[in-house]
Amino acid sequence: MRKDVRILLVGEPKVGKTSLIMSLVSEEFPDAVPYRAEEITIPADVTPERVPTHIVDYSEAEQTDEQLSSEISKANVICIVYAVNNKKSIEKVTNHWIPLINENTDKDSRVPIILVGNKSDLAEHSSMETILPIMNQYAEIETCVECSAKTLKNISELFYYAQKAVLHPTGPLYSPDDKEMKPACIRALTRVFKISDLGNDGILDDNELNFFQRTCFNAPLEAQALEDVKNVVRKNIMDGVCENGLTLTGFLFLHTLFIQRGRHETTWTVLRRFGYDDDLELHQDYLYPFTLKIPPGCTTELNHNAYLFLQSVFDKHDKDRDCALSPEELKDLFDVFPYLPWGPDVNNTVCTNDQGWITYQGYLSQWTLTTYLDVQRCLEYLGYLGYSIVSEQESQAAAITVTRDKKIDLQKKQTQRSVFRCNVFGDQGSGKTGFLQAFLGRNLTRQAGVNDEHMSYYAISTTYVYGQEKYLLLHEVVPEFDVLSDADLACDIVCLLYDSSNPHSFEYCARIFKSYFMDSKTPCMVIAAKSDLPESRQLYVLSPLEFCRKHKMPPPQSFTCDTADAPCRDIYTKLATVAMHPHMTQATLSGATFWLKAGVGATVFAVLGFAMYRVLLKQR
Ligand code: GDP
Ligand code: MG
Repeated sequence: MRKDVRILLVGEPKVGKTSLIMSLVSEEFPDAVPYRAEEITIPADVTPERVPTHIVDYSEAEQTDEQLSSEISKANVICIVYAVNNKKSIEKVTNHWIPLINENTDKDSRVPIILVGNKSDLAEHSSMETILPIMNQYAEIETCVECSAKTLKNISELFYYAQKAVLHPTGPLYSPDDKEMKPACIRALTRVFKISDLGNDGILDDNELNFFQRTCFNAPLEAQALEDVKNVVRKNIMDGVCENGLTLTGFLFLHTLFIQRGRHETTWTVLRRFGYDDDLELHQDYLYPFTLKIPPGCTTELNHNAYLFLQSVFDKHDKDRDCALSPEELKDLFDVFPYLPWGPDVNNTVCTNDQGWITYQGYLSQWTLTTYLDVQRCLEYLGYLGYSIVSEQESQAAAITVTRDKKIDLQKKQTQRSVFRCNVFGDQGSGKTGFLQAFLGRNLTRQAGVNDEHMSYYAISTTYVYGQEKYLLLHEVVPEFDVLSDADLACDIVCLLYDSSNPHSFEYCARIFKSYFMDSKTPCMVIAAKSDLPESRQLYVLSPLEFCRKHKMPPPQSFTCDTADAPCRDIYTKLATVAMHPHMTQATLSGATFWLKAGVGATVFAVLGFAMYRVLLKQR
């Protein structure tokens, strides 16, 4: 909303402009007034809308045309004053004042105009008959009012309307010609409805209406008021109320009614609460509450509260309760977005079910990935979903945890982080994509069905490290670029992957290791992929095993995704465990007990985690 309002009064001499201002200020009619009142500022706390308001007078006797033009362009709203008993002053409204105002203002951002008929105490009959056709002719006329500086009739109303015309403009909401709300307004209110419909059954029941009322107006509706609202809707349209709740049709009807009755500030309050600006776009401050500076060494994660919210959004849209989002369910979920945020590659980044639909787990993983890679985008998405409103948080930013610098984690030998990044290096054709896809439970046969264009360079899922659920983010680094960026190098663990059936494959791993990771603190793990194929001797000075020994790495881990069922997950648990405990010496790492512990934890808790989710679902 605007920070202040500037009201300008214009009109023919002697219609009573100066008197109107003086009457407002002193609450009595002044017998004698100067040509022109000084500019006055009404402090915020005594105006109905609580914004400082400047009132500016005009006098032909004291001001030049240039001064008038400049005042017109500075004004936020202009009152054209005429005297109801002076026909000439009414004629001048259309043949002088409106054209003059239009000349001095932008075509695209016309200032609202209010027609003010003063001296109503002297009128024998109302001027409205003459004024209404003018109102219909000019869309920029917000409203008209008859008043009297002498009897003080409608004086405070006049200035209230002027203020309202600036703060709660009708223009973006409503088309007077069609007598209906504009498409952008309907779109915005539809999003508001969908977010408020927590049960996603297309009806706002009493609880949801009360929640809505509390978020927008800080007060619940009395039971009787709730009934009254529904009755008004019932009386006026067919399918506005259903199962004693408000449908979208009813909700939109109600707002049309507010606007038509001049109560559009109600609609504006709702829209602003849900993040809209005066152009009915979501406000930058709402979508991007602050520019997060992420210091080097820190990462961004969602906190518990944000996961709870995202879980509720999932449940709301998983209508058949199969713990996966069908294409229709996903489309419905993103209905409150201005564009589709997830492309087909997301299905190859996270876990899906047999039908290829994103599972509950995959859905949370994708959110985790977005938060990790592009936190601003994550805030934007949470904004579309109405996170801060539904979770009653100050802003979307309340969803984010910035982790402490990794250097401190290393010093203290422990970490609170729950997302670990593993960059996967390997020559072309060495099996990197297969390695990423296998983490999502896909064997070679299932991978064969994937369209190459929809392939992803990321794969993210959870794995258990000593019983704690952690996210492991695998990133395939494309070998075509000889120079690696900082992002390619910054990770918690490095995978050097070679094709054990191709004698030329290991050399690339050795080269990458020597050029980038030999002196870094990042742990590295060598993976011998395609272990189902006959092994070839690697044409390199050292065998992979010798190379690992020499550089104090664990021995090469053999891996295959050419399996009948889902590929084995042990390797990912190992990666996450090392990523989480980089301080562990290589000796501990190669010890059998270490892996045993990690492995046991993984299966026990994986089963437990699934069972727990089941129980939670049933309870609801
Ligand atoms: P301005 O030139 O538009 O600023 O008009 P003024 O405020 O100077 O008023 C012109 C004359 O109209 C003065 O004699 C006022 O006393 C008188 N006047 C202003 N408002 C009213 C009103 O509401 N009723 C009546 N009867 N006279 C008014
Ligand atoms: Mg005057």
